[in-house]
Amino acid sequence: MAEITLSSESYKHNFHLISSHIGTDVEIAAVLKDNAYGHGLEQMSILARECGIKSVFVKNYNEALRVSEYFPHITALYGMPEGDFPQHIAFVINQKEHINLLPKGTKVELKVNAGMNRNGIELGEIEDFITSLLARGLELVGVFSHNGYGDDIDEAFTHTQERFADIKECVKVLAIKYGFALPRFHSLSSSGAIRMASERGISDDLVRIGIALYGYLDVAFSNPISPHLRKVAALYADRVSTRTLDAGARIGYSGCTTLEYPSRISTYDIGYGDGFFRVSERHKVYTAKGYQILPRSSMDCFSCLCDEPRICVFDDVSDIAKAFGTISYEILTHLSPSIKRTII
Ligand SMILES: *Cc1c(COP(=O)(O)O)cnc(C)c1O
Repeated sequence: MAEITLSSESYKHNFHLISSHIGTDVEIAAVLKDNAYGHGLEQMSILARECGIKSVFVKNYNEALRVSEYFPHITALYGMPEGDFPQHIAFVINQKEHINLLPKGTKVELKVNAGMNRNGIELGEIEDFITSLLARGLELVGVFSHNGYGDDIDEAFTHTQERFADIKECVKVLAIKYGFALPRFHSLSSSGAIRMASERGISDDLVRIGIALYGYLDVAFSNPISPHLRKVAALYADRVSTRTLDAGARIGYSGCTTLEYPSRISTYDIGYGDGFFRVSERHKVYTAKGYQILPRSSMDCFSCLCDEPRICVFDDVSDIAKAFGTISYEILTHLSPSIKRTII
């Protein structure tokens, strides 16, 4: 049965590498959304907790409930609760209606747009939102934005950070005016956090680290972290069957692959139904050891010129992402939650 192995050693190595770069006065929160970037929510929660991580960000209410026992601070980035929930789960306010959907006493984080123009309220709306949520009896535990320019070498990144500094100033003034405790401030994900730590230092309370903890940081700027990160996940597929075929034999749907020489060929139990992208005649995709995944792959299996009982499909998705014209995040998050995950 196919299996994803998760290297505990690599995860801890990444955590220590990132935290030594960022410094001890900024908290590292783990982003565990989307089934921990496809790695497995429960498994990655175990590893994050072993590193001493206290705050995590997940996609929604369902993911928050699944990790509720592991961490004292959990934030659901999207959506509202659909039932009861423990007190330590915070929900994100992105628009006015959210305020009235939450019961009194709920912890909330306010998302503010600092220039990405995707989600969050505007700087000019902060006072209105904060007074409304205080009136509703919600507890403001965080104010944050997302810098969408962390990967790029241009001014937009700096402008976004300046906008966030204005947002913080505004909230600090309101905290005095209305007498509420200062929330935690955060604006940086992996690329931005690594970059700010190298350039000017980080003035936020917390950074939200996703992809770098899983071992990837594919950014345009040179930095001391990227080359030393270790990939956490590896995908293994097991042999379903093996046969020896003559030259000229055609393989799989529409017989897309034709053998040039008599060959021993096997199928392995990973297909697009397992969330591994479908390899068609337009793609050249290779396993970790360099066996080509022959087009076209099927829903539940693919063929390779090989007869090993178990093969490593990837221990690094970077080249596979390139072959499919996408980014490592997409290959990883698609991996089916039903593939067995094992911490090693
Ligand atoms: C996904 C996400 C992150 C993490 O981004 P990485 O590039 O994976 O570090 C941080 N913050 C928010 C709001 C996100 O949605």
